[in-house]
Amino acid sequence: MINEEILFENVKKIYKMIAHSAMKAGRNPEDIRLISVTKNVDSAVIMKALNIGLREFGENRVQEAQKKIISNELKSTMERIQWHMIGNLQKNKAKVAVELFDMIHSVDSIEVAEEINKQAEKLNKQQKILIQVKLSDEMAKHGISKDKLNELIECIKHRQNLHILGLMTIPPFFDDPEMARPYFRELKRIRDDAEGAGVDLPELSMGMSNDFEVAIEEGATMVRVGTAIFGEREY
Ligand SMILES: *Cc1c(COP(=O)(O)O)cnc(C)c1O
Repeated sequence: MINEEILFENVKKIYKMIAHSAMKAGRNPEDIRLISVTKNVDSAVIMKALNIGLREFGENRVQEAQKKIISNELKSTMERIQWHMIGNLQKNKAKVAVELFDMIHSVDSIEVAEEINKQAEKLNKQQKILIQVKLSDEMAKHGISKDKLNELIECIKHRQNLHILGLMTIPPFFDDPEMARPYFRELKRIRDDAEGAGVDLPELSMGMSNDFEVAIEEGATMVRVGTAIFGEREY
């Protein structure tokens, strides 16, 4: 199992890279949040990550997250940790997702948005959300297409318990991170257009272990990093 020293070294290296990319782009490194992706990472390791100062964790499956969050190790840490839902969300998991997650990055349909709003209303919660936009034509990827985005934003704006904060995307995987740059640039352009039309979308969730430096150069405010922190995962 990975120990705290290695975790600390990995995270230190990532923060240096974040700072470097931010400065290269003339940005303040403090405007970029590191979301540590803990899918396939068990609660004992998450506890170690908490011990070295990490506070924001991302999970891509509701059930896996739920098991960890209510585990004996992590039960008492609820107030110290912010959990981010970064994977595709099915409507029937919306209730649990609203109970568990501070932010949901993967809203990609009116149906899911409506359900999250309904569940959040019951809990009297303002659920922070991002819209996941699909910019590639890969069949397997989730996200709403560009041409349907405005309609979804319009719907969300009128839902009392949804607090929309920005956009998220997952470009196709490339060995060369430069190849992902046009996707990140495109998401920022879409955001800027929306803001021009009067919708405030400060957050851009983009960039993973392989390409977060490029994403930061293109305006990412949240990078979702798993492998570079916790090592290769076993599936
Ligand atoms: C797994 C995952 C990540 C992190 O990927 P790494 O390559 O391990 O850094 C980021 N975002 C989403 C949506 C993921 O599922």
